[in-house]
Amino acid sequence: MVDVSCVFDGGAIEMVHAPSASAIEVRIRADNHSEFAQWFHFRVAGVRGERVNVRFLNAHACTYPKGWEGYQVVASYDRREWFRVETTYSEGVLALSLECAWDQVYFAYFEPYRSERHLDLIALCQTRARARVRQLAKSIEGRPIECVTLSLGGRKNVWVIARQHPGETMAEWFAEGLIEYLIESEDALVMRGLELATFHIVGNMNPDGSAHGNLRTNAVGANLNREWAEPSAERSPEVLGVRQAMIEEGVDLFIDAHGDEALPYVFVSGCEMLPNFSARQRQMQDGFIDAFKAASPEFQDKYGYAAGRYQKDALRLASKWVGDRFGCVSLTLEMPFKDNAHHPDPKVGWNGARSRLLGRAILEPIVKTLLAQA
Ligand SMILES: [Zn+2]
Repeated sequence: MVDVSCVFDGGAIEMVHAPSASAIEVRIRADNHSEFAQWFHFRVAGVRGERVNVRFLNAHACTYPKGWEGYQVVASYDRREWFRVETTYSEGVLALSLECAWDQVYFAYFEPYRSERHLDLIALCQTRARARVRQLAKSIEGRPIECVTLSLGGRKNVWVIARQHPGETMAEWFAEGLIEYLIESEDALVMRGLELATFHIVGNMNPDGSAHGNLRTNAVGANLNREWAEPSAERSPEVLGVRQAMIEEGVDLFIDAHGDEALPYVFVSGCEMLPNFSARQRQMQDGFIDAFKAASPEFQDKYGYAAGRYQKDALRLASKWVGDRFGCVSLTLEMPFKDNAHHPDPKVGWNGARSRLLGRAILEPIVKTLLAQA
Protein backbone atom coordinates (compact mmCIF):
# COMPACT_ATOMS: atom_id res chain seq x y z
CA MET A 1 0.00 0.00 0.00
CA VAL A 2 1.28 3.45 -0.88
CA ASP A 3 1.46 5.66 2.19
CA VAL A 4 2.46 9.29 2.76
CA SER A 5 3.52 10.37 6.25
CA CYS A 6 5.23 13.31 7.93
CA VAL A 7 4.87 12.57 11.63
CA PHE A 8 8.55 13.01 12.48
CA ASP A 9 10.97 15.80 13.37
CA GLY A 10 10.55 18.63 10.87
CA GLY A 11 7.92 16.73 8.89
CA ALA A 12 5.33 18.79 6.99
CA ILE A 13 2.84 18.01 4.22
CA GLU A 14 -0.91 17.65 3.72
CA MET A 15 -2.00 14.50 1.94
CA VAL A 16 -4.74 14.95 -0.63
CA HIS A 17 -4.87 11.73 -2.58
CA ALA A 18 -2.60 8.70 -3.13
CA PRO A 19 -4.44 6.04 -5.14
CA SER A 20 -1.12 4.76 -6.52
CA ALA A 21 2.60 5.62 -6.52
CA SER A 22 2.30 7.38 -9.84
CA ALA A 23 -0.60 9.66 -8.88
CA ILE A 24 0.15 11.16 -5.47
CA GLU A 25 -1.30 14.61 -4.76
CA VAL A 26 -0.32 16.74 -1.78
CA ARG A 27 -0.56 20.31 -0.52
CA ILE A 28 2.27 22.27 1.08
CA ARG A 29 1.34 23.08 4.64
CA ALA A 30 1.51 26.55 6.19
CA ASP A 31 3.58 27.23 9.34
CA ASN A 32 1.71 26.13 12.48
CA HIS A 33 0.75 29.71 13.43
CA SER A 34 1.18 31.83 10.33
CA GLU A 35 0.51 31.98 6.60
CA PHE A 36 4.07 31.28 5.44
CA ALA A 37 4.21 28.10 3.39
CA GLN A 38 7.06 26.56 1.40
CA TRP A 39 8.81 23.93 3.54
CA PHE A 40 7.87 20.28 3.10
CA HIS A 41 9.41 17.05 4.33
CA PHE A 42 7.62 13.72 4.06
CA ARG A 43 8.04 10.02 3.41
CA VAL A 44 6.39 7.88 0.77
CA ALA A 45 6.27 4.15 1.59
CA GLY A 46 5.34 1.06 -0.41
CA VAL A 47 6.88 2.16 -3.70
CA ARG A 48 9.78 -0.21 -4.39
CA GLY A 49 10.50 -0.51 -8.12
CA GLU A 50 7.74 1.95 -9.01
CA ARG A 51 7.65 5.30 -10.70
CA VAL A 52 6.68 7.83 -8.01
CA ASN A 53 4.92 10.98 -9.18
CA VAL A 54 4.00 13.64 -6.64
CA ARG A 55 2.04 16.77 -7.53
CA PHE A 56 2.09 19.74 -5.11
CA LEU A 57 -1.25 21.26 -5.96
CA ASN A 58 -0.94 24.59 -4.12
CA ALA A 59 2.66 25.46 -5.08
CA HIS A 60 1.48 28.68 -6.79
CA ALA A 61 -0.13 29.84 -3.53
CA CYS A 62 3.04 29.38 -1.44
CA THR A 63 5.02 32.32 -0.06
CA TYR A 64 7.69 32.38 -2.78
CA PRO A 65 6.28 31.00 -6.04
CA LYS A 66 9.45 32.23 -7.79
CA GLY A 67 11.26 29.72 -5.63
CA TRP A 68 9.83 26.90 -7.76
CA GLU A 69 11.29 28.17 -11.04
CA GLY A 70 14.37 26.11 -11.81
CA TYR A 71 14.01 24.28 -8.50
CA GLN A 72 14.52 20.51 -8.01
CA VAL A 73 13.09 18.63 -5.00
CA VAL A 74 15.61 16.71 -2.85
CA ALA A 75 15.15 13.03 -2.02
CA SER A 76 16.86 10.40 0.09
CA TYR A 77 16.52 6.68 0.76
CA ASP A 78 18.84 6.54 3.78
CA ARG A 79 18.31 10.08 5.16
CA ARG A 80 22.05 10.74 4.80
CA GLU A 81 22.59 11.15 1.09
CA TRP A 82 20.20 13.62 -0.51
CA PHE A 83 19.98 14.02 -4.26
CA ARG A 84 17.91 16.17 -6.62
CA VAL A 85 15.02 14.63 -8.51
CA GLU A 86 13.33 15.52 -11.78
CA THR A 87 10.95 18.37 -10.98
CA THR A 88 8.74 20.63 -13.08
CA TYR A 89 6.74 23.73 -12.23
CA SER A 90 3.93 24.43 -14.60
CA GLU A 91 0.46 25.97 -14.34
CA GLY A 92 1.00 26.57 -10.66
CA VAL A 93 1.72 22.93 -9.83
CA LEU A 94 5.08 21.61 -8.73
CA ALA A 95 5.57 17.98 -9.79
CA LEU A 96 8.33 15.47 -9.12
CA SER A 97 9.01 12.12 -10.70
CA LEU A 98 11.37 9.40 -9.47
CA GLU A 99 11.90 5.73 -10.32
CA CYS A 100 12.06 4.39 -6.77
CA ALA A 101 14.82 1.91 -5.90
CA TRP A 102 13.66 0.97 -2.41
CA ASP A 103 10.51 0.53 -0.32
CA GLN A 104 10.52 4.04 1.13
CA VAL A 105 11.74 7.42 -0.01
CA TYR A 106 11.96 10.78 1.74
CA PHE A 107 11.33 14.07 -0.02
CA ALA A 108 12.12 17.54 1.31
CA TYR A 109 12.36 21.16 0.22
CA PHE A 110 16.04 21.11 1.21
CA GLU A 111 18.36 18.63 2.96
CA PRO A 112 16.97 18.57 6.52
CA TYR A 113 19.05 19.21 9.63
CA ARG A 114 17.62 17.02 12.35
CA SER A 115 17.26 17.97 16.00
CA GLU A 116 19.18 14.81 16.99
CA ARG A 117 22.14 16.03 14.94
CA HIS A 118 21.91 19.37 16.71
CA LEU A 119 22.01 17.65 20.11
CA ASP A 120 24.96 15.49 19.01
CA LEU A 121 26.91 18.57 17.93
CA ILE A 122 26.24 20.39 21.20
CA ALA A 123 27.26 17.28 23.16
CA LEU A 124 30.49 17.00 21.18
CA CYS A 125 31.30 20.67 21.72
CA GLN A 126 30.93 20.58 25.47
CA THR A 127 33.70 17.96 25.74
CA ARG A 128 36.24 20.09 23.85
CA ALA A 129 38.71 22.20 25.81
CA ARG A 130 38.27 25.40 23.84
CA ALA A 131 34.45 25.29 23.78
CA ARG A 132 31.72 26.17 26.24
CA VAL A 133 28.06 25.49 25.77
CA ARG A 134 25.73 28.12 27.13
CA GLN A 135 21.97 28.25 27.18
CA LEU A 136 20.99 31.82 26.35
CA ALA A 137 17.23 31.40 26.26
CA LYS A 138 14.37 28.97 26.10
CA SER A 139 12.01 28.84 23.18
CA ILE A 140 8.25 29.31 23.55
CA GLU A 141 7.85 25.54 23.88
CA GLY A 142 10.81 25.16 26.25
CA ARG A 143 13.57 24.09 23.89
CA PRO A 144 17.03 25.46 24.76
CA ILE A 145 18.63 28.16 22.60
CA GLU A 146 22.23 27.04 22.83
CA CYS A 147 25.34 29.02 22.07
CA VAL A 148 28.71 27.36 21.47
CA THR A 149 31.37 29.77 22.69
CA LEU A 150 34.89 29.07 21.43
CA SER A 151 37.76 30.88 22.99
CA LEU A 152 41.51 30.89 23.54
CA GLY A 153 41.25 34.26 25.24
CA GLY A 154 40.53 36.46 22.19
CA ARG A 155 39.14 39.81 23.35
CA LYS A 156 36.92 40.70 20.41
CA ASN A 157 33.53 39.05 20.01
CA VAL A 158 32.32 37.40 16.82
CA TRP A 159 28.68 36.30 16.77
CA VAL A 160 27.20 33.91 14.24
CA ILE A 161 23.55 32.91 14.38
CA ALA A 162 21.62 30.57 12.12
CA ARG A 163 18.16 29.36 11.34
CA GLN A 164 16.01 32.17 12.66
CA HIS A 165 13.92 30.92 9.74
CA PRO A 166 13.69 27.23 10.60
CA GLY A 167 13.07 25.93 7.07
CA GLU A 168 16.45 27.40 6.03
CA THR A 169 18.31 24.32 7.18
CA MET A 170 21.39 25.19 5.11
CA ALA A 171 22.05 27.83 7.77
CA GLU A 172 22.58 25.21 10.46
CA TRP A 173 24.79 23.09 8.17
CA PHE A 174 26.83 26.26 7.65
CA ALA A 175 27.08 26.88 11.42
CA GLU A 176 28.14 23.26 11.98
CA GLY A 177 30.97 23.66 9.44
CA LEU A 178 32.32 26.70 11.25
CA ILE A 179 31.97 25.12 14.71
CA GLU A 180 33.72 21.91 13.67
CA TYR A 181 36.59 23.83 12.14
CA LEU A 182 37.05 26.00 15.23
CA ILE A 183 36.82 23.23 17.83
CA GLU A 184 39.18 20.75 16.24
CA SER A 185 41.73 22.37 14.01
CA GLU A 186 45.22 23.52 14.91
CA ASP A 187 45.46 25.49 11.65
CA ALA A 188 47.26 28.82 11.81
CA LEU A 189 44.06 30.50 10.66
CA VAL A 190 42.00 28.96 13.47
CA MET A 191 44.66 29.79 16.08
CA ARG A 192 44.92 33.35 14.83
CA GLY A 193 41.14 33.74 14.88
CA LEU A 194 40.81 32.42 18.42
CA GLU A 195 43.67 34.63 19.65
CA LEU A 196 41.87 37.65 18.27
CA ALA A 197 38.30 36.84 19.18
CA THR A 198 35.87 34.73 21.13
CA PHE A 199 33.35 33.12 18.77
CA HIS A 200 29.71 32.77 19.84
CA ILE A 201 27.74 30.51 17.50
CA VAL A 202 24.02 29.82 17.81
CA GLY A 203 23.35 27.02 15.32
CA ASN A 204 19.58 27.00 15.75
CA MET A 205 17.72 30.14 16.81
CA ASN A 206 14.34 28.55 16.20
CA PRO A 207 14.13 24.93 17.42
CA ASP A 208 10.34 25.07 17.84
CA GLY A 209 9.79 26.07 14.23
CA SER A 210 12.33 23.41 13.18
CA ALA A 211 10.44 20.67 15.03
CA HIS A 212 7.08 21.82 13.61
CA GLY A 213 8.42 21.86 10.07
CA ASN A 214 7.83 25.63 9.72
CA LEU A 215 9.41 27.72 7.00
CA ARG A 216 9.79 31.07 8.72
CA THR A 217 8.19 31.38 12.15
CA ASN A 218 8.36 30.15 15.72
CA ALA A 219 5.66 28.31 17.67
CA VAL A 220 3.47 31.42 18.06
CA GLY A 221 3.92 32.68 14.51
CA ALA A 222 6.69 35.25 15.13
CA ASN A 223 9.17 35.84 12.31
CA LEU A 224 12.26 36.08 14.53
CA ASN A 225 14.15 38.16 11.99
CA ARG A 226 11.59 40.93 12.47
CA GLU A 227 11.80 40.91 16.28
CA TRP A 228 15.20 42.51 16.96
CA ALA A 229 14.02 46.04 17.67
CA GLU A 230 11.63 44.93 20.41
CA PRO A 231 11.85 41.25 21.30
CA SER A 232 9.52 40.02 24.03
CA ALA A 233 9.35 37.07 26.39
CA GLU A 234 5.84 36.23 25.14
CA ARG A 235 6.49 36.38 21.43
CA SER A 236 10.23 36.02 20.80
CA PRO A 237 12.17 34.81 23.87
CA GLU A 238 14.68 33.23 21.45
CA VAL A 239 15.77 36.68 20.22
CA LEU A 240 15.42 38.35 23.61
CA GLY A 241 17.98 36.04 25.27
CA VAL A 242 20.55 36.13 22.46
CA ARG A 243 20.26 39.90 22.03
CA GLN A 244 20.77 40.39 25.78
CA ALA A 245 24.00 38.33 25.69
CA MET A 246 25.24 40.42 22.76
CA ILE A 247 24.55 43.65 24.66
CA GLU A 248 26.43 42.33 27.71
CA GLU A 249 29.43 40.90 25.84
CA GLY A 250 29.68 43.17 22.79
CA VAL A 251 29.82 42.44 19.07
CA ASP A 252 32.77 43.16 16.75
CA LEU A 253 31.52 41.14 13.79
CA PHE A 254 28.16 39.50 13.13
CA ILE A 255 26.87 36.96 10.61
CA ASP A 256 23.22 35.88 10.41
CA ALA A 257 22.87 32.81 8.15
CA HIS A 258 19.82 32.26 5.93
CA GLY A 259 18.58 30.63 2.75
CA ASP A 260 16.94 32.40 -0.18
CA GLU A 261 14.11 30.66 -2.02
CA ALA A 262 14.46 32.44 -5.36
CA LEU A 263 18.07 33.51 -5.99
CA PRO A 264 20.47 30.68 -6.97
CA TYR A 265 23.53 32.33 -5.41
CA VAL A 266 25.52 32.71 -2.20
CA PHE A 267 25.59 36.38 -1.25
CA VAL A 268 25.52 38.78 1.66
CA SER A 269 23.35 41.75 2.52
CA GLY A 270 25.10 44.49 4.46
CA CYS A 271 24.26 47.62 6.41
CA GLU A 272 24.88 50.37 3.86
CA MET A 273 21.27 51.61 4.13
CA LEU A 274 21.67 52.53 7.81
CA PRO A 275 21.75 56.31 8.39
CA ASN A 276 24.88 56.19 10.54
CA PHE A 277 26.78 53.66 8.38
CA SER A 278 30.31 55.04 8.58
CA ALA A 279 33.15 55.18 6.08
CA ARG A 280 35.02 52.78 8.36
CA GLN A 281 32.12 50.30 8.31
CA ARG A 282 31.99 50.60 4.52
CA GLN A 283 35.70 49.90 4.23
CA MET A 284 35.51 46.90 6.56
CA GLN A 285 32.40 45.52 4.87
CA ASP A 286 33.98 45.82 1.42
CA GLY A 287 37.16 44.22 2.73
CA PHE A 288 35.17 41.31 4.16
CA ILE A 289 33.38 40.74 0.82
CA ASP A 290 36.66 40.78 -1.14
CA ALA A 291 38.28 38.35 1.31
CA PHE A 292 35.26 36.04 1.17
CA LYS A 293 35.40 35.95 -2.63
CA ALA A 294 39.06 34.98 -2.41
CA ALA A 295 38.35 32.28 0.21
CA SER A 296 35.41 30.50 -1.45
CA PRO A 297 34.51 29.79 -5.08
CA GLU A 298 30.87 29.60 -3.96
CA PHE A 299 30.62 33.22 -2.86
CA GLN A 300 30.02 36.15 -5.21
CA ASP A 301 28.80 39.74 -4.96
CA LYS A 302 27.33 40.32 -8.40
CA TYR A 303 23.85 38.96 -7.62
CA GLY A 304 22.00 39.74 -4.40
CA TYR A 305 19.45 42.11 -2.91
CA ALA A 306 19.44 45.71 -4.07
CA ALA A 307 20.41 47.88 -1.11
CA GLY A 308 17.11 49.62 -0.42
CA ARG A 309 16.60 53.02 1.15
CA TYR A 310 16.72 53.02 4.93
CA GLN A 311 13.45 52.61 6.69
CA LYS A 312 13.06 52.47 10.44
CA ASP A 313 11.66 48.97 9.98
CA ALA A 314 15.12 47.79 8.97
CA LEU A 315 16.15 47.70 12.63
CA ARG A 316 13.74 44.83 13.18
CA LEU A 317 16.24 42.64 11.27
CA ALA A 318 19.11 41.06 13.20
CA SER A 319 22.00 42.21 11.02
CA LYS A 320 20.68 45.78 10.73
CA TRP A 321 20.00 46.05 14.46
CA VAL A 322 23.50 44.76 15.28
CA GLY A 323 25.17 46.96 12.64
CA ASP A 324 23.37 50.02 14.00
CA ARG A 325 23.98 49.28 17.66
CA PHE A 326 27.60 48.10 17.49
CA GLY A 327 28.89 49.88 14.36
CA CYS A 328 30.61 46.70 13.20
CA VAL A 329 30.60 44.52 10.09
CA SER A 330 27.16 42.94 10.29
CA LEU A 331 25.90 40.76 7.46
CA THR A 332 22.98 38.58 6.48
CA LEU A 333 24.41 35.60 4.60
CA GLU A 334 22.11 34.00 2.03
CA MET A 335 22.56 30.55 0.51
CA PRO A 336 20.34 29.04 -2.20
CA PHE A 337 17.59 26.43 -1.92
CA LYS A 338 18.25 25.70 -5.59
CA ASP A 339 21.74 25.17 -6.96
CA ASN A 340 24.48 27.77 -6.88
CA ALA A 341 24.42 29.09 -10.46
CA HIS A 342 27.86 30.60 -9.86
CA HIS A 343 29.32 27.11 -9.24
CA PRO A 344 26.68 24.47 -10.15
CA ASP A 345 26.44 20.83 -9.16
CA PRO A 346 23.26 19.43 -10.79
CA LYS A 347 23.32 16.09 -8.95
CA VAL A 348 22.91 17.55 -5.46
CA GLY A 349 22.38 21.28 -6.04
CA TRP A 350 23.23 23.40 -3.05
CA ASN A 351 23.25 21.04 -0.05
CA GLY A 352 24.36 20.42 3.51
CA ALA A 353 27.95 19.48 2.65
CA ARG A 354 28.48 22.61 0.56
CA SER A 355 26.97 24.75 3.31
CA ARG A 356 29.39 23.16 5.82
CA LEU A 357 32.35 23.94 3.56
CA LEU A 358 31.15 27.51 3.29
CA GLY A 359 31.04 27.66 7.10
CA ARG A 360 34.70 26.70 7.11
CA ALA A 361 35.60 29.12 4.33
CA ILE A 362 34.07 32.12 6.07
CA LEU A 363 36.70 32.01 8.81
CA GLU A 364 39.29 33.60 6.53
CA PRO A 365 37.34 36.81 5.80
CA ILE A 366 36.38 36.98 9.47
CA VAL A 367 40.03 36.79 10.59
CA LYS A 368 41.18 39.26 7.92
CA THR A 369 38.50 41.72 9.03
CA LEU A 370 39.49 41.36 12.69
CA LEU A 371 43.14 41.91 11.76
CA ALA A 372 42.22 45.05 9.83
CA GLN A 373 40.46 46.37 12.94
CA ALA A 374 43.33 45.54 15.28
ZN1 LIG B 1 15.76 33.68 6.16
